[in-house]
Amino acid sequence: MTLLLFDIDGTLVRVNGAGRDTIKHALSSLLDHPITTDGVSFSGRTDPNILASILEENGLPAGESEVSAALDAYVDAMTGVLTPEDVEVLPGVRPLLEQLHDHADIQLALVTGNVEAIAYEKLGVHDLDEYFPIGAFGSDHADRNQLPHIASRRAAAHAGHDFQPEQQAVVIGDTPHDITCARAAGARAIAVCTGGYERAALSDQQPDVLHDRLPAPHTFLRQVGVGA
Ligand SMILES: [Mg+2]
Repeated sequence: MTLLLFDIDGTLVRVNGAGRDTIKHALSSLLDHPITTDGVSFSGRTDPNILASILEENGLPAGESEVSAALDAYVDAMTGVLTPEDVEVLPGVRPLLEQLHDHADIQLALVTGNVEAIAYEKLGVHDLDEYFPIGAFGSDHADRNQLPHIASRRAAAHAGHDFQPEQQAVVIGDTPHDITCARAAGARAIAVCTGGYERAALSDQQPDVLHDRLPAPHTFLRQVGVGA
């Protein structure tokens, strides 16, 4: 069996400015202090990491308890607010997930920097959540590189089948961080240029496969080494 670990933002969906705006307003109101998120990159990072950077950028304490309070405020503010117009399903995603989900030799899972509640908020807007019974999230670890192993353990418990990331896992993502995280776990990496990174920036990290967008299901299956 092959374990496919999908990133969310820039890989499955693109969320408009709602995420950044919500963080800004939630933190400004929590801290009673105008917060800027300018200069803080969100791409490929875990939510706890992003929030810690925002607090630091604004000259505020960014210890464990401050980050945890900021995360709670962010999750509260994001719950139930995203509309279908806020979230774009990226090209090729739905036909690919439909085929992968039904495939006997594939287990789908998420590896995302989003905290779990927000991951499912973003996917649920267009019913993509049903493809992903399990995953590893920013709420599990602030270090993205730890997430593939956590996802593999959960996949094993879910599928009743052990997964060795070195042989059986593929990380699919849109940033250099996704490729680094695949390598840290010994997994293969498929990169797509549907997020914020140019082809050359992803190519520099030498993913196993690099696509402009997610390919047709039969091409994808061949590239992950699974028969249709
Ligand atoms: Mg991403």
